[in-house]
Amino acid sequence: MKGILVLLALVVAVTCKENFSGQQVLRILPVTEEEVNLVRELETFEDLRIDFWQGPALPNRYIDIRVPFFALQDVKIYLESNNIQYSIMIHDLQALLDEEEQEMKLGHQMENSRSTNTFNYAVYHTFDEINNFIDTLVAENPGLVSKVVIGNSYQGRPLNVLKFSTGANRPAFWIDTGIHAREWVTPASGLWFAKKIVTDYGRDASLTATLNKMDILLELVTNPDGFVYTHTNDRMWRKTRSPNSGSTCVGADPNRNWDAGFGGAGSSASPCTETYRGTSAHSEPEVRAIVNYVKSHGKIKGFVSIHSYSQMLLYPYGYTSIKAADQVELHALAKTAVDALTSLYGTKYTYGSIITTIYQASGGTVDWTYNQGIKYSYTFELRDTGRYGFALPANQIIPTAEETWLALTKLIEHTRDNI
Ligand SMILES: [Zn+2]
Repeated sequence: MKGILVLLALVVAVTCKENFSGQQVLRILPVTEEEVNLVRELETFEDLRIDFWQGPALPNRYIDIRVPFFALQDVKIYLESNNIQYSIMIHDLQALLDEEEQEMKLGHQMENSRSTNTFNYAVYHTFDEINNFIDTLVAENPGLVSKVVIGNSYQGRPLNVLKFSTGANRPAFWIDTGIHAREWVTPASGLWFAKKIVTDYGRDASLTATLNKMDILLELVTNPDGFVYTHTNDRMWRKTRSPNSGSTCVGADPNRNWDAGFGGAGSSASPCTETYRGTSAHSEPEVRAIVNYVKSHGKIKGFVSIHSYSQMLLYPYGYTSIKAADQVELHALAKTAVDALTSLYGTKYTYGSIITTIYQASGGTVDWTYNQGIKYSYTFELRDTGRYGFALPANQIIPTAEETWLALTKLIEHTRDNI
């Protein structure tokens, strides 16, 4: 009997992957402040387990929420009885995720990961596969690429940074992807950027000039524990995986954990929410590692933290409506970058400061880097605008990476030419 129970426990442990059958993503359009607040109240009904994909923000801005099947009826009645407009963006999330899993399996059958030339950039990859890619890329380009381990995650996974460098003690441009675990298109794009950099060095005049003057640093999986968890347990996990004392809810939002307006509006003190800020600024080891690295490096001149979704390019601030001292320059550069991005496939982006363009958010990455003196601090929100949201089909990875690279190139060139 005991043996059977142990076996049963094992089976449960192996198959406890969150299932999203019948779950829907609703797009809500509140038109008054009161309606925004009514939608916000949904977050306080923890039993409903509503997941805010987008917002809540200002009147006349969309709020996207993922609603478990059991809560759908209640939520729809709540919205309808308050006369709040909504539509169904995703009818059955699990159906999309089943397709994604199939594509991953098929994509890997066609892949030879022993070379970055035959690596399949058009599918999503696991943490181990990404680490193998990093080691392969370094082995293939010993004079150009190295791996820097800047620390460890809460669960002890290495925080790997790819360093593209052709000389010692250079200024640097930082790019990170995957700080929010479920935003899979961001590390997937990062892999493509890494290959693009080694391909273009010595061939493309601008990239060559860049790497002859400064380094590019690229952290592909910035929140490894969360990322692994999205593969093994819950595809929609966002936060870190550190435990919270006094709560059964796990993790903090690593984009609310920085010492920039920490604890202010647009972050939560409740461990069960998606925007939980953590117990104190830099409490998360994944954040602390970057803080320490940036401070000890001392010459990081550009910093881009990449998220998805909603197609935006944002600059500081998020925690305050006071304008950044370099607002005019940052805005003009954002326009240049967005124009370049749009030129490839017509993908439309909005741009501006975080607080005016998306919503107030305190404790965010680029507010901290900007206050550290890194003038060119930006955040991307990659594709799409919500049709698929975090479940962006893999056939959009390469187009997303290609267009984003054009924008990144503008930011990198401007940084290079102004340091
Ligand atoms: Zn994000």
